Amino acid sequence: MPETVSDIGELHLIKHIREIAGEPSAGVGIGDDAAVIDVGTETYLLATTDALADGVHFLTSQIPARSLGRKAIAVNLSDIAAMGGIPTSVLVSLALPASTPVEFVHELYRGMRHEADTHGATIVGGNITSTPGPIAITVTVLGSVSKSSLSLRTGAQIGDVLATTGTLGNAAAARLITERSRGWEERWGTFVSASQVPTPRLKAASALATVGIPHAMLDISDGLASEVRRIGEASGVGALLHSDSLPISEEVQQVSEELNLDPLDLALYGGEDYELLVALSRGSLHEAEALLAEEPLHVVGEVVPREVGFTLETDGKSTPLAAEGWTHF
Ligand SMILES: [Mg+2]
Repeated sequence: MPETVSDIGELHLIKHIREIAGEPSAGVGIGDDAAVIDVGTETYLLATTDALADGVHFLTSQIPARSLGRKAIAVNLSDIAAMGGIPTSVLVSLALPASTPVEFVHELYRGMRHEADTHGATIVGGNITSTPGPIAITVTVLGSVSKSSLSLRTGAQIGDVLATTGTLGNAAAARLITERSRGWEERWGTFVSASQVPTPRLKAASALATVGIPHAMLDISDGLASEVRRIGEASGVGALLHSDSLPISEEVQQVSEELNLDPLDLALYGGEDYELLVALSRGSLHEAEALLAEEPLHVVGEVVPREVGFTLETDGKSTPLAAEGWTHF
């Protein structure tokens, strides 16, 4: 039997692709939140792309088309934010089954337009193809970042603090609610619709990046536990997270309690929160907090030597941080 993508997993597949694709002639290659392209000016061109597939990332039965359109743009804007950049242009590629209602496409685009407008980007092109399979929405966002503001995943230093924006676990809690009976959805309707569309932290990221605060930065698409590993592996360091410092909303606490789940699991492994994870020096924390008065930073842990690995500290006890998270195969 030939080896399948499911046999090797997403991370290995990306590794193979990196080897085949080779190194870029100018800029930073595969492996960060967005590609960084040196076009010979004072700014780098940023490019990122993300596909959402019906049945994998969303269910058309559980998210309104307009919210889906917003989400498809927002998750890409979030990757531009993670580089410290500003988005400019959006390209949209749709794979649609022949039976797709026209109104679905209209609503999808209204949502995409809204989200792009909100963050100063414009939809400039795209492509539509038919497919026998489920709907797939592929969005590419281009942006720019001044060379001095570029924030990669690679610069975290031992002794840095790790901080996040917003709260964690909301998207996972919303997914769990939509899987329950109707009564649940009615009770949690506002929370679900707010959590289905992430807020790209463009302002916060760019405020920090402009003054060179992040040693490393990325957006939390697959759960804090995997993203901390990504920063650690890219920077050659380990990380220690403090479980009682993780920012968890009242709603996530309540949903977890009712479902008999540990809210920490949603925060660490839930995914799709699209908050920022930043490694910064302890000395710059005050300045960072002052810059982000509207969207406070939460210190969730610290950067430790690589040999220490990735651990979670609860009530003074350290346990290894599980490697799980949102994986695609
Ligand atoms: Mg990302």
